[in-house]
Amino acid sequence: MSWDLVIANGEVVIPELGIVEADVAIEGDRVAALGKGLGAAGETIDATGQVVLPGVVDPHVHLGLENPFADDASTETASGLASGITTIGIFLRSLEDPYAPQLPGIREEYEANAFTDCFFHLQIFNEAQLAELAADAELGTTSFKFYMHGLPGVVPSVDDGFLLAGFRAIAELGDGAIACVHAENDSIVLRATAALERERPDGTLADWADSHPDEAEAEAIHRAAYLARLAGCRLYVVHLSTRLGLEEARAAREAGGRVYFETTSPLLSIAKDDPIGLLGKMSPPLRSQADLDALWEGVLDGQIDTVGTDNTSRSRAAKQVDAGLHGSRTGYPALATHLPTLIEEGYHRRSVPLTTIARIACMGPASVYGAYPRKGTITVGGDADLAVIDLHQEHTVRPEELHSFSDFSIFEGRSMRGWPTAVIKAGQVAVRDGEILAEPGSGRYIRRDPSRRTGQGVAVRCGGSRPIRRAPAC
Ligand SMILES: [Zn+2]
Repeated sequence: MSWDLVIANGEVVIPELGIVEADVAIEGDRVAALGKGLGAAGETIDATGQVVLPGVVDPHVHLGLENPFADDASTETASGLASGITTIGIFLRSLEDPYAPQLPGIREEYEANAFTDCFFHLQIFNEAQLAELAADAELGTTSFKFYMHGLPGVVPSVDDGFLLAGFRAIAELGDGAIACVHAENDSIVLRATAALERERPDGTLADWADSHPDEAEAEAIHRAAYLARLAGCRLYVVHLSTRLGLEEARAAREAGGRVYFETTSPLLSIAKDDPIGLLGKMSPPLRSQADLDALWEGVLDGQIDTVGTDNTSRSRAAKQVDAGLHGSRTGYPALATHLPTLIEEGYHRRSVPLTTIARIACMGPASVYGAYPRKGTITVGGDADLAVIDLHQEHTVRPEELHSFSDFSIFEGRSMRGWPTAVIKAGQVAVRDGEILAEPGSGRYIRRDPSRRTGQGVAVRCGGSRPIRRAPAC
């Protein structure tokens, strides 16, 4: 017999296990065998000297905020795919209307245009949306986000009564359902932002961090974790950004909560005094070098379960940098640089094991959101989504090469090592040496089951990040 495709001679990074020298055989859209001497294949990719990672699962993506959703579904997922992302979690935003009636149409639009698979998270703002969670779950969408602090003028904040009611409704859906929170104390942020506007009207990106004080994040994590524990609801904190927040994360876990913490690749790689300036404006803000270092410690000691991008693609013009600190807009594209950032900043500069990077970038998100082990690892029977990475291929980030509609990157001009030479998606060679070979419309929506948790959270936390054998050092 002959396999459809074999990725031969690579160092295969299996998050639960370590790094093994093996060939990966693919039949159709699934991994069919792992081992040596697997025999003939219709097509072989020689991965000698390279590592093979599970396709990256970016749990935190915003699409369609500036361009139509269908357009972003095409350009922005292409941008992610080229860097090794094969699945994304999209935060859908409807400020008023319920979601369930819209979901089939959104799914159809996505699947007609996208390059990566996806699951949806719904941002919950009102009673009507709270009343339809079971209908959303029927359609395979089982994660729901609450803004404890919204984006003033764009997204409203929810109060604690609503939050607790939401957590209770989610707990009722089953163990596969989960609440996500943007955890910041609303009034602390609003007061600090008003003070900054008064006192530093011409402030810098570094000043922006003061508008979202560390204690606002830490207090909100503490409160959300308490309410989720009361409700018996799984809780996922998006974009953890501070050392103080990380301390509350640890405390929430020790208190017995079923809590998961995400940070982002920009927060792990750019500090607030970076020369990128206001192009780097985001909510929550980029933080100090000490916070950035603390986040990597959280990655290494297992307090951080997942890493996403919080991708919010915008054009340079739409950032309105000329309007100064208070007039410019938050958000930046980050899909195209996600995995290279983690390899450059984590593996190369901080000796973070590749298994740890695969845990937070692949297995963690798939596991928390109920797509594991179909996604997030390399296993027989799992989806054949893989990224073949040359750890030493060095490349300078140029926005025009990133496939996104955005004409800037917060990493532009930075040199990074660790780009894919090939990306396999659903058994197809989707990217080869930076060129996208897949067609738009090859991405699929992943239904999740609210009653069932796939995998055990990220229970491999202990010991899972120790590699059997390290990839060759640089
Ligand atoms: Zn976000």
